[in-house]
Amino acid sequence: MKTANPFASKVMEMAERETHGWKMMIGGKWVEARSSKRAVTFNPAYDQPLAEVPAANAEDVADAVAAAKAAFPAWSRLHVDERAKYLQRFADGIRAWAREFGMLDTLDSGNPLPAMIDDANKGAGLHDYFCGLGMEMKGRTIPTPGGGLNYTRQFPFGVVGRIIPFNHPISFAAGKIAPPLVAGNTVVLKPAEQTPLSAMLLGRLVEEHLPPGVVNIVVGDGPNCGAPLASHRDVRRVAFTGSVEVGRSILASAGIKPVSLELGGKNPLIVFPDVDIEKAAAAAVSGMNFTRSQGQSCGSNSRVFVHAKIHDAFMEAVLTLASKIKVSLPELENAQMGPVVTRRHYDRVMGYIESGRKEGASIALGGTHSAAAELKSGYFIDPTVFTGVKHGMTIEREEIFGPVMSVVQWTDEATMLEEVNDSEFGLCANIWTNDISTAMRFADDIECAYVWINGHGNKRFKGAPFGGMKSSGLGKEHSLDELLSFVQEKNVNVRY
Ligand code: ADP
Repeated sequence: MKTANPFASKVMEMAERETHGWKMMIGGKWVEARSSKRAVTFNPAYDQPLAEVPAANAEDVADAVAAAKAAFPAWSRLHVDERAKYLQRFADGIRAWAREFGMLDTLDSGNPLPAMIDDANKGAGLHDYFCGLGMEMKGRTIPTPGGGLNYTRQFPFGVVGRIIPFNHPISFAAGKIAPPLVAGNTVVLKPAEQTPLSAMLLGRLVEEHLPPGVVNIVVGDGPNCGAPLASHRDVRRVAFTGSVEVGRSILASAGIKPVSLELGGKNPLIVFPDVDIEKAAAAAVSGMNFTRSQGQSCGSNSRVFVHAKIHDAFMEAVLTLASKIKVSLPELENAQMGPVVTRRHYDRVMGYIESGRKEGASIALGGTHSAAAELKSGYFIDPTVFTGVKHGMTIEREEIFGPVMSVVQWTDEATMLEEVNDSEFGLCANIWTNDISTAMRFADDIECAYVWINGHGNKRFKGAPFGGMKSSGLGKEHSLDELLSFVQEKNVNVRY
C-alpha cells in the first residue's frame, strides 16, 4: 500500500484483523455477503485499490432486518438509562479508536486526517448528548370528561434503516445511530459504498458493547443494498442523508413509514457593504469547507453574494486566505486538504468548473488538478474560486459538492434576495452585516432553515435543530426534535 504515513498501514492491518477480513456485523456475527460477491474500495489519494469488502444485496439486508427485529423487544424494554449505559461504553470505544477511525476515513474518502479524527470524536459526542436527553421522551395527560385519565406515552418504531453518504463516514456512522438507539429502536446501518471501512470497524465495537442485533451493518451499493433496506416492510422508520435524487426515490418506495431526509444545499453567504471585510472573507473561506472535506459537505457556502462596493477588497482577502490552503496527501498528520472521493466525482466537479468557464464566469483561483508531483495520480483539485458569476449559471444553481466557490456581485437588495431564494435548496444561509435590522429582516425572509448571522453554517451546536427547507430535506437533526422523531405516541384512556 502506498502511503506517506506508516500509521496508515498499521491501521489497515488492525482493521482487517478486527473485522475478520472485512466482514459485516449482522446479528452479532461477522458475515460475508450471501452471494459471496465483493467490491473494491479505492484510496482517492493514489487512485489505488484499498480493500475488498462485501457487496451486500437484498438477501443480506433481509438477514440484517430480521436480526434487528429479533433484538428489538429486549432492547426497547430496557429503561432508557440502561440503554444509555451500553451506548456510553460504545461511545468510549469510539473515542479510544478516534485516530484509527480517522485514518480509515482518510484512506477511504481522502478527507484530511486531523478533520477525520475530530469527526470520530464528534460522532461519539452525539451519544453523550442523546443519552442525556433520554428522559425527555415524555408523554402528556389530556383532560377528559368524567372520571378517568387520558395519557400518552412514547414508543420506538422497531427497526430503523439508516443510510449515510461518503463525506463524513465515521461521524455519520457513529453519530446518526445514537438517537434511534437511545429511543429504543434497533438499527440497520448502511454506509456509502465509497467509504465503508470505518463503519465496518465500528462493527467491532458493536460486537463488544451492544447486545447482538441491536446494530447491524450492511455494506453495499445504493440500488442493491440501500433501496431494499429503505423499502423493507419490517423497517418501520428510515433516516437518509445524501442526494436529492436518492431522497426522492426513497420517499417514493419506502411505503407507509416516516422518512427523514437530510439532502443537499447551495448555501448563500451574503455580504453587506458595512462588514469587517477580513472577518467576512475568513468566514466565506472557512465555511466553504475547502479543508475538512474539499467542499463535499451539504453545509458549504458555495454561493457568495457580495456587495459591489466592497467586492474587490473582499475578493482580495478571500484569495489571500484560499491560496494559503495547502493541498497534500491527506494522511499526513498536519494535512489541510486532500482529494475528492472518487474518479467519477473528480470528473463531475471538473465538468462543473468547465461549465463555469464556458458560461462566462472567471476563475480567480484554482480550477485545475493540484500540481505537486506526489499528487499526480490522485483526485486532487485546487481550491477554486469563480468571480463574475451570474444568477442562473450552472455553477450558481447546482450543488457541485466540491472545492468550488461562486461569487456573485450585487447592488440592489431586493433583487439579491430574490436571486438567493430562487433555488430548489433551502439548507443553510449566512448573513454578514453589522446592521441589526437588515440582519433580522434577512433571517426572516431567507428560505433556508439554518441561518447564521455573522458566521457560517458549518458551526453547529448540539441542540440547535439542523435540517433543510424545500428540496434540502425533511426533519431536524442534532436536537431533541431528532430524538422525538424516533418515537411514536400512543394514547391511552383509563376509566375509574
Ligand atoms: P452522494 O451523491 O453523496 O454519494 P447518494 O444519495 O448517491 O449521495 O448516496 C448516499 C447514500 O445513499 C449511499 O449510502 C448510497 O449507497 C445510498 N443510495 C444510493 N442510491 C440509493 C437508493 N436508490 N436507495 C437507497 N439508498 C441509496
